[in-house]
Formats: sequence, structure tokens, C-alpha cells
Amino acid sequence: MKSHTQVCVIGGGVVGCSVLYHLTKLGWSDVMLLERSELTSGSTWHAAGGFHTLNGDTNMAALQGYTIGLYKELEALTGLSCGLHHVGGITLADTPERFDMLKAERAKHRYMGLETEILGPAEIKAMADLVNTDGILGGLYDPLDGHLDPSGTTHAYAKAAKLGGAQIHTHTMVTATTPNPDGTWTVETDKGTVIAEHLVNASGLWAREVAAMAGVYLPLLPMAHQYIVTDDIPGIYTRATEFPHVIDPGGESYLRQEGRGLCIGFYEKPCEAWSVDGTPWDFGHELLNDQFEKIEDSIAFAYRRFPVLETAGVKSVIHGPFTFAPDGNPLVGPVPGLRNYWSACAVMAGFSQGGGVGLALAQWMIEGETERDPRAMDVARFGRWTTPGYTVPKVIENYQNRFSVSYPNEELPAARPFRTTAMYDIWDGMGAVFGQTYGLEVVNYFAPEGAPRFETPSFRRSNAWGAVKAEVMAVRTGVGINELQNFGKFRVTGPGARAWLDRIMAGRIPAPRRLSLSPMLAPSGRLIGDFTISCLSETEFQLTASYGAQDQHLRWFEAHPDPGVTIENISDARTGFQIAGPRARDVLAACTRADVSAEAFRFFDVAPMTIGMAQCLVQRVSYTGDLGFEIYCSPAEQRHLFHTLWEAGQPHGIRPFGMRAMMSLRLDKFFGAWSREYSPDYTAAETGLDRFIHFGKNTAFIGRNAAEAERATPPARQLCAFEVAATDADVVAYEPISLDGEVVGFCTSGGYAHFTGKSIALGFVPREMAQDGLEASIEILGDHCPATLITTPLFDPDGARMRG
Ligand SMILES: Cc1cc2nc3c(=O)[nH]c(=O)nc-3n(C[C@H](O)[C@H](O)[C@H](O)COP(=O)(O)OP(=O)(O)OC[C@H]3O[C@@H](n4cnc5c(N)ncnc54)[C@H](O)[C@@H]3O)c2cc1C
Repeated sequence: MKSHTQVCVIGGGVVGCSVLYHLTKLGWSDVMLLERSELTSGSTWHAAGGFHTLNGDTNMAALQGYTIGLYKELEALTGLSCGLHHVGGITLADTPERFDMLKAERAKHRYMGLETEILGPAEIKAMADLVNTDGILGGLYDPLDGHLDPSGTTHAYAKAAKLGGAQIHTHTMVTATTPNPDGTWTVETDKGTVIAEHLVNASGLWAREVAAMAGVYLPLLPMAHQYIVTDDIPGIYTRATEFPHVIDPGGESYLRQEGRGLCIGFYEKPCEAWSVDGTPWDFGHELLNDQFEKIEDSIAFAYRRFPVLETAGVKSVIHGPFTFAPDGNPLVGPVPGLRNYWSACAVMAGFSQGGGVGLALAQWMIEGETERDPRAMDVARFGRWTTPGYTVPKVIENYQNRFSVSYPNEELPAARPFRTTAMYDIWDGMGAVFGQTYGLEVVNYFAPEGAPRFETPSFRRSNAWGAVKAEVMAVRTGVGINELQNFGKFRVTGPGARAWLDRIMAGRIPAPRRLSLSPMLAPSGRLIGDFTISCLSETEFQLTASYGAQDQHLRWFEAHPDPGVTIENISDARTGFQIAGPRARDVLAACTRADVSAEAFRFFDVAPMTIGMAQCLVQRVSYTGDLGFEIYCSPAEQRHLFHTLWEAGQPHGIRPFGMRAMMSLRLDKFFGAWSREYSPDYTAAETGLDRFIHFGKNTAFIGRNAAEAERATPPARQLCAFEVAATDADVVAYEPISLDGEVVGFCTSGGYAHFTGKSIALGFVPREMAQDGLEASIEILGDHCPATLITTPLFDPDGARMRG
């Protein structure tokens, strides 16, 4: 074994081997993989080997499409068989909600170029005659679905990696990993020590233990999963073509042909976590004992859906563990707080996702960024607040919901409430209906007296409609108050602070007592942040951005250090409120001695103010697009600040508002939102955020070359707003935009702008089409709704109220 390597991958399951292969594919050959036993010795060997593209997140769906397309390439490269069966698959819908979800998926696939198809019951029967279609409304057919040989595929990745120069050492157990001051890692094994420039944790079932060797906690948990292989079934082995995959979400099952019989697996509700406190090192090629009692109900359901199973004998039962993150997506990327330490863990569908995970990680490591927005699988999407106590109930919930309908407005109940602010009980007393962002309870809206404290999960307009409308109207006609906790906040201090910000941010760095809006760009010019920068003094700045992206942002800042700059994440150390609406100034003026008149405290001004007894930082800006103020204070003073503002607001009819109202208010002004319009999938020029780039500054800010190139040659697509003739469902995201029946773009977000009473969509169309009045159509849940491109904001188009 060599003593030094560029990359050391720990773990020889399908994921580790894919990472190793992709590193060589992208040009790094001084790479090695260490496996404590034989390849496939974790969950890989007992997988059912199924693969499919369907995933609620479009980037994950694309990643799965890449993985599936890779297998033929691997076979050609290595001469090894992956045991591919491209049989196609049907996902059944037995309720209108589930059918809505499949139709929404199909609509997304239309713009993604995936050849899926909505089928009726008769078509399902014709394709998969063993399905009892009673009660089935339809299904989604995906020709790419299929299954493979898990071991053959893993060995094909391994051989392909070796052909690219990689080394693989089996029976080599990693026992310790220690960071060195130069950024390398000392990797100790039972066969000697290796110094690695980069370390990849791809240890599957043992990912938690291997992470602990580096002193970090990765939020994942193994779950015990069971599938059954039947004896030979005549209806199967006499078929001319192989039986397709059938996923029956209503019965929590997936079924496919296995040899001359069938194989059926379940995501049962009475599921069990496995080895909650750690995976034993001596667990290897063994299976767990059969446990029919937990799948009894699922089997009974399956007998009704696939009657042939009732008389088929059971040939074998496979019951084994595999790992999940709290939201079911993998944990991939640079682990926050560590240098050159990468995660390729919690890949619960290694044969649908392993290839794409390997590619993304190799791109991230070698090229500095991934080709697609990685946030759905970024290890940093879970903050340092995650604990095993949070992970366990969340993973169990995710397993139970694997085949459940997932609604765009749904708030899942497990592990809540966990993180709360001092306002939690006060909001609760006012009827708050909470959601969760990054583990934090955040008010979605306030239920009126007597109304249910629960928003009905739906693809269509929910029961929150009236309440949200009332909050929107309160802001636009009087004044509303909303908590500012859920912003990611950073304090940047030191003599080099301004110069550092000038390099990290593409926008203008404001003068003292002013704020600016700025995109943060990757070298490719893609958006990795959308910040408000407040200059408190020449050596102190406050940055605010998305609360959920705080660890991603901090990781980026830490990767670009400067000895003259200190960066602190103060997201939870600074909190506060925004007050917005035409009476907002009156409320503020009533509780401070500071002069907050329009002349003294202008739009984008920042000032320290004493409000009541609290020492606050006040900014004249509001995402509602209205006259508004953001008021920051320390958490200990938050309740006092609230009571002060609340009392001062009484004569003006102050009302609390939640995130649903905020997202409606921003639609009046076509304001984009982080993770919707603004994400690493898009550039500043595509989204219009290039208006905040300060090309005049004499700094080589990150992404400058790419931004300059787009300035010279504008990008092909442009973000636009549409007024949609929607009926009872509004745009959520990724609905296709068509012109004369041809898909020309897609939506990034949308919703109902209650103040103006219009259904609004934001989305991309080719630049040359982005003209006011363009008549297009947007597909919402299978309906092609007429949509008109609009360029004038619905409210305060000249900004007189916002700036006044
Ligand atoms: C019953 C069942 C059915 C499944 N069906 C499917 C399916 O149909 N389709 C699908 O896509 N997925 C399926 N899966 C999930 C699939 O098995 C996993 O997604 C996949 O195996 C994850 O691979 P991995 O490489 O991340 O982890 P693992 O396979 O667990 O590999 C980790 C490797 O790391 C090694 N290792 C750990 N610690 C060390 C150390 N300290 N030093 C050296 N080596 C170490 C281990 O020995 C192991 O070989 C199924 C899983 C189960 C249990």
C-alpha cells in the first residue's frame, strides 16, 4: 500500500466504487479505496438492485437518470456485466391526490426531456396483466426503470476505476483519521498508514463510526428492510417479455420479476431502525432474521393488488439494513468544519443514485463545484444542530412516508417542535400554524379563532387561503409584524473585512450605515448566495441570507479565509422582527427617540436604535416590497422588543403575519426567492440579479470572468413573471411553460398574490420570447392554463411606497 495519495475513499460498496471511478474519469489517477472486508460487504450485496428516475427533486431525478445511463458505459468499458434488465416501471395511483402527484411529475418530466407517460387502468392492465386494477385511477410509466446485479455492478465500477489508475485494497480496515495542519489527513489502517490529501467517507452502514473518527456527527440511521422472492410463477415465466416493475404506493410496495418468479419489497409503517447506537464492526455478510409480523398488513394488501402472490410459495426472504438521512436524500459534499473531508453517505438508493453521487462528488472535488445544484443532497443542508435524537424519528418518518404523497405545502410532524425562539409560545397563543425550517419552528400563518390549527396538505389551494389573504391585506393596508429569526446571519469583522467582502460578493459593498443587495457567485458565475450586506462600520458588517443555507455559506466563507477577517455565524444569536406596511413608520416612531422620518432614515439606511429598552439594529428594507423595517436584537431581548412594537402598533391595527403571507406579498413585486428563482442552477444574468453586480469595482471578485462573459453575450434564457388563468391550483415549481404546444421553459415558483387577486408564476423562457404580453400556457396538474407574460409589478411599480 502506498504511503501518500491524492484521495483515499473509505468503503467499497457501490457508492465508494462509483466515487473512485468518477475521480479517475475526471482525471485524478492517484486515488485509492480501502475496504475492511470484500467489496459489497455493507448493504450493497443484499440490495434488490432496482433503479428508477422518479424523484420529487428535479436535480435528484436528473442524477438518477445519469446513473441509469451509465451502466451500459460501464459494461462497455470493463467487459463486465451489470446484469441489466431495462423493463420499464409503472407507479400506480389509487387516490386523486396520488394521481395529482404523478401528473405533476409528468409535467416536470416534459421539460426535463424524460419520456414518461400517464397511463389509464386499461393500459396498465395491458402492460402488467397480474395487477388488479380495481380502484386504480391511473399510473406513471417510466421506460428507464429496471434492475441489475448489485455485485456485478459494484465490481464493474471497481474495475473501471482500476483501469483509470486507482488502487483498491480490500481487507484493509481504517481505524483512525486525523487532520494535519497542512490540510492532509493521516489515515491509519490495520495494514499501515496513508497520508491523503482528500478523504472520502463512503462507509455506508458504518458512516457514523467513520465520521466519528474525524470528530463529526453525520445525521443518518440504518433501517431494517425486507423483500421476498417467490417460487416460480407460470404467469411470469410463460410471458414473452419480462414483467415490468410495479410500484404500488397505496400498498407501500415495489414488485418486479426475479428469474421465473417475482420479488416484492415493502416500506412498511411498523418499520424498525437498526443498530440505533452504532453499527457493530463485526457485522458483515449476514442477514437479519425474517420478520413477517411487521409486513403482515402490507402482504395482505399486496395479495389484493397482485392476486397471483397469494398462491406463490416463498423462495427466500432478504432482510437487511441500509442507511437514510432524515429527508431520505444522500449526504454528499465537503463536510462543514473540516478541510478536505468529503461525505458520500446515506445513499439509500445506491443503484438509482450511486453513479450521480460519484460524479457530483468528483466534480466538486476536482472542479470546485458540481454541474447541477447539489443542495438536495448537500451534507451541509443539515446544520450542526442535528443530533441523534432528531435523526432517529425523522428517518423513521421518512421511511414510513417513502411511498406517501408528498405535498408542496406539507409540514411533517416528526421531531417537532425541536428548535424554537422565545416567541414560540406567544405565536402559539395567537393561533400560529408552524412549519419547520432547518429544524426551527417558523410561523406559516395564523389560524383564525375556531379554525383548525393545521393546513390541509394539498396540490391545490389549501384551507389556509382565507387566513393568508387576511394577513396580506393587513400588511398592505396597515402594518404587519413578522419574526426575523429565519435569516442566516453572519458578522464579518476586522481590518480586512471590506476587501474580503469585495472579493467574495459580486455586488457593491455599502458605505457605513447603508446596506446593499448582492449576489454571491461561484467561479462559473452561478448563484451560490443572495445577500443583504449591512455596513455597521468600516470594520464591521452584517450579512443576511437564507437561514437554511447558513452552513453552506459558512463553508464557502471558510474555504476563502483572510487573516484580517473574522466571520461568525450569528444566525441564532441575533433575532428580531420586521414591521411592514403603510403604518410601519408610525409604529417605529412611537417606540424610539431616533428620527425615523423618510428624510432622516432613508431606504437602505442602517442604524443602531434603542427601541423600548432594547438596543437594536434597524434596517430600512422589507421583502414584502412595502414600506418596512427590519429590527434586529439579541434573543434575550426579543420578547421585550415584541411587546414594545405590539403595543405601539395597536392604534394602527398591527397584525402578525407568517411565511405564507410573505411569499404571497413578494409575488406582487416579482421578487425572487432563494432556492426557487435563485439557486446554483442559475446565473445572475439569467435571473436579473446581475443588476446588483458592481462591474465598476476594481476587484477580481469570484465569478467575475463568467459574469463579464454573460454581460457581453446575454444568456439564452430569462426569468419572467406570468399572470396565470389558474382555477384552484397555482404554480409550485417546475411546471412546463409552453408556446403553441411546444415546451419552451419552466416555472421556478409561483402562488397566489392575494393583494392583487392574481395567480402568479415566475419562470424561465428563451430570452427572445421574454416580451410583455407573450401568451403562453403553463401546465398545472395536467391542465394547460393560459398565462400572460407581465413586466410591470402588480403593486407599487415605481417603488414610491417602498422607498417613500
Ligand atoms: C434489503 C435491501 C434492499 C435494497 N434494495 C435496493 C434497490 O432495489 N435499489 C437500490 O438502489 N438500493 C437498494 N438498497 C439500498 C442499497 O443497498 C444501498 O443504497 C447501497 O448499498 C449503499 O451503498 P454504500 O456503498 O453507500 O454502502 P455499503 O454497501 O454499506 O458499503 C460501505 C462499505 O464500507 C466499508 N467500510 C465501512 N467502514 C470501513 C472502515 N472503517 N474501513 C474500511 N472499510 C469500511 C464496509 O465494509 C462496506 O463494504 C437496498 C438495501 C437493502 C438492505
